[in-house]
Amino acid sequence: MVFAKGVAPGARVAQFMPAELLALTPWLAPIVSEGTFNPELLHHIYQPLNLTIGVTVFAVGKYTRFVQPFLESAERFFMQGYRVRYYIFTNDPAAIPQVPLGPGRLLSTIPIQKQARREEISMRRMEQISRHIAERAHWEVDYIFCLNVDMVFRNPWGPETLGDLVAAIHPGYYAVPRQQFPYERRHISTAFVADGEGDFYYGGAVFGGRVASVYEFTRGCHMAILADKANGIMAAGQEESHLNRRFLSHKPSKVLSPEYLWDSRKPQPPSLKLIRFST
Ligand code: UDP
Repeated sequence: MVFAKGVAPGARVAQFMPAELLALTPWLAPIVSEGTFNPELLHHIYQPLNLTIGVTVFAVGKYTRFVQPFLESAERFFMQGYRVRYYIFTNDPAAIPQVPLGPGRLLSTIPIQKQARREEISMRRMEQISRHIAERAHWEVDYIFCLNVDMVFRNPWGPETLGDLVAAIHPGYYAVPRQQFPYERRHISTAFVADGEGDFYYGGAVFGGRVASVYEFTRGCHMAILADKANGIMAAGQEESHLNRRFLSHKPSKVLSPEYLWDSRKPQPPSLKLIRFST
C-alpha cells in the first residue's frame, strides 16, 4: 500500500504517482480499493447506525432496458444488510420492470419528461437530483449514490463507500498524466480547469455522499450548468466537466478506485483486484 506524502499543492502528488498506486489523496481522503479496508470491521461499525442508503438512476427512453440487470445485480451486491431506497427517474414508469426486492429495500419511480437531446438527459440530472433531495430524499435517506443505469454490480459494494462527499476515479484516466485529463479548457465555461490544476479525473457515472452534501454538490453543478447555458456553452464532457470542476474546489472526503466504476471493455489490470460495478 502506498501513501502519498503531504506535499502542497496536493495535486502534484497525483501528477507523479499513478492513481492506481495511491491509498490516500494528498488532502488525506482514503482511496478505497480491495485490501485497504476490513469489511467485517466496517459492518460492525455501520450496522448499528440503522442507515438508509438512497440510489438515484435515470432510465429515459431506451435506457429503461438497463433497469432490470441494474436492479438484479444491486439486490445481490449493493449494501447488503442495509436499508436501501432506489429512485428511478423515468419518462416511462410503465416500462420499469418489477424486480423482487429484499427486506428493507424499496423502489420508487420518479416521473420526468423526456428531453429531446441525449446530452440534455445527463445534463439535467444534477437539477433533478438536487430538487428530489430537497423535496423528498432528504427525509428518507442518510446517504445517497447517483449512478448510471447502464452498469451492473459484480461484487460487494458496502459501507466502505460511505462518506460525506464521495467521488470515483474514471476508469479511462486512472493511469494517465493530469495534463491529459479531458477537463473543460475554455475560460468562458464555468467548468474551466487550468492546465496546471486537477487532482484526479472523476467519472460522472458514480458519485454520492451524505444526502445534505450531495444536495449542495448537485445544486452547485446545476447552477454552473445554468450559467454556461445562459452563455450558449456546453462543456466538453457535459455534466462530467462540471462535476470535475466542483470536486476540485469541494474535495471529496472519500475517493473510490476504478473498482467501483469500471469499463468492462478494458482488460482488468492487476492493480484492480475486485471489479464491483462496471459497464
Ligand atoms: N440516460 C438515459 N437515457 C438516454 C441517455 C442517458 O436514461 O437516452 C441516462 C442513463 O442513466 C445513463 C446516464 O443518463 O446511464 C448517462 O448517460 P451518458 O450518455 O452520459 O453515458 P452512458 O451511460 O450512455 O455511457
